Amino acid sequence: MLDLKMYINGQWRDSKEKRDVINPANGEVIAQAAEGTIDDAKDAVNAAKEAFESGVWSELPAVERASYLLKIADKIDERHDELTKLETMDNGKPHREAGGDISDAASCFRYYAGLIRSPEGGQIYDVPEPVQAMVVREPVGVCGLIVPWNYPMLMSVWKLAPALAAGNTVILKPSEITPITVNKLFEIFEEVELPKGVANMVLGAGATVGNELAESKDVDMVSFTGGTKTGRHIMQAATGNLKKISLELGGKSPNIIFADADFETAVDYALFGIYCGTGQVCSAGSRVLIEESIYDKFIDRFVERAKKIRVGAGDNEKTEMGPLVSEEHMNKVLKYIEIGKEEGARLVCGGNRLTEGEYANGFFVEPTAFADATPDMRIVQEEIFGPVVAFQKFKDEKEAIKLANCTDYGLAGAVFTQDGAKAMRVIKKVRSGITWVNTYHPTYNEAPWGGYKQSGIGRSLGTFGLEEFQEIKQININLEVEPTGWFEG
Ligand code: NAD
Repeated sequence: MLDLKMYINGQWRDSKEKRDVINPANGEVIAQAAEGTIDDAKDAVNAAKEAFESGVWSELPAVERASYLLKIADKIDERHDELTKLETMDNGKPHREAGGDISDAASCFRYYAGLIRSPEGGQIYDVPEPVQAMVVREPVGVCGLIVPWNYPMLMSVWKLAPALAAGNTVILKPSEITPITVNKLFEIFEEVELPKGVANMVLGAGATVGNELAESKDVDMVSFTGGTKTGRHIMQAATGNLKKISLELGGKSPNIIFADADFETAVDYALFGIYCGTGQVCSAGSRVLIEESIYDKFIDRFVERAKKIRVGAGDNEKTEMGPLVSEEHMNKVLKYIEIGKEEGARLVCGGNRLTEGEYANGFFVEPTAFADATPDMRIVQEEIFGPVVAFQKFKDEKEAIKLANCTDYGLAGAVFTQDGAKAMRVIKKVRSGITWVNTYHPTYNEAPWGGYKQSGIGRSLGTFGLEEFQEIKQININLEVEPTGWFEG
C-alpha cells in the first residue's frame, strides 16, 4: 500500500485524515493519500511566496533553470516503467496510453528547457528619440496549478514545465482521485534538489484546498484544467486580487465525415477519437457528424469495429480500452446513456456496464454509440466524458458547420474529406481551438492547446504556453539625461 504525503517547502507532510485511492480496474485500495487542509494550502502558498521573493529561482539564469528541467526529464525516463504501471493502477488507462503520457511528460520538460534558453522575442522599439524602448518578459510570481484525473501526470507537467521554466514558484494540486504519479514526480524534484519552496504539492479536496489556491491574495495566477462548471467557480474565486487565470475546460467536439473521405481511415479515427482514453479525454470526438449518403454504411462499419474493442484492465497487454476512473464517474456516464435513450436517440452499440468475471469489481462500460442524435438532446450538448458517441446526419457543408458549432463548447474538431479546399473551408468555420484534418487527437509540445467559447481561456504548450506564465514589461531608457523643461518654475 502506497502512503502519499504532501510536499511543502521542501518537506514531506502527512495529515491526520487520509483518503483511499482506488484502482478502477478492480476496486482495490492501492494508496492512502494525505488529506490536505486549508492551512496546508496556506503554508504551501507562503513557502512559494517566500521562495519567489528570495529570487532563488526567478533570478537564476535561464540556462540553470533549464538544466534542472533536463535533469527532471532524465529521471522521468529512468523511472518510465514504474511510472507507467502506477498511472495505469491509478487512472485505469492501458499501459500503451500510460507509457505514452510518461514519455510525453519527459519531452515536455525538455521542450521548455530548450525554449527558455532561446531568444524569447524580447523587442527593442523604434520610438521617437531620445528614448530607447524595450520589452522584457518576467515570471508572474506564485502560481496555483490545479489539475484533473484524466491525465494525472501529463496535465500536471503541461503546467509545471512552462511555469518553472519561466521562473515562477508553484503549488500543484492534483486530483484527489489520482494523486500517485505526481507524488513520484515530487520525489524527483527532491532528488534533483530543486530549491525549497519552488515547487510545492498539496493534496485534498477541490472545494477546500483548490478553492484556497484560487482565492488566495498571495497567489498571482491560477492555471486550471478541469470541468467547465469548476472553471467558472475558479474564475469567480480569482476576482479577490484579480489574479491572472488560465482555464482548460471541457469539450463536446465534432468530428465531421464527408462522403468523399477515405472511408476506412475516417471510421478508424472516429473510433480512436471517442474510445481512446475510454472517452475521458477533453478533446474526444464525442459527436460524429456524417454526410447523409454514407450515414448508414458508416454507422454499420463503426459499430462492427466498436464491438470488437477489447475492454479490460490496463495492465493486461491485450486491453484496448480501460475502465472509467471511478464508480461515481461510471454512474454519471451510465446515467447519460439512460438520458440518451429517454431522449429518443437510437442506441446502436453497447450501453451497459460490464459486470461478469474479470469485470466484476471494476468500473467498466461498453463502447457505446447513439444514432439519430439531434442538437436539442442533452447527449449532444453536454460533456459525458465516457465511451459514448452521438452520430448526427448532415446534408451539405453548410449544415455540417452549423451542427459542428451548435454547443457551448469549442475545444477541438476534425474534418475528414479528400477535397483539400473543402477541408480548409470547413475547418476555418469550426469555432474550436484545436482542429485536425484527416486525423484525430495528435498533440504536440510545440503547438498551442486550448479552447474557444466555454472550453476555456488561454493556451497550454508551445510558445503560447510559456507566455501564459510570463508578465510583459516595457522598459524605457532616456538616452539624454537632462531636465524635461515641462514646468518653467
Ligand atoms: P473537476 O473540475 O471536477 O476537477 C479538476 C480539479 O479541480 C481537481 O483537482 C479538483 O479537485 C479541483 N476542484 C474541484 N472543485 C474545485 C473548486 N471549487 N475550487 C478549486 N478547485 C476545485 O474535473 P475532473 O472531473 O477532475 O476532470 C474532468 C474534466 O476536465 C472534464 O470536463 C475535461 O473536459 C476537463 N479537461 C480539460 C482539458 C483541456 O485541456 N481542456 C484536459 C483534461 C481534462
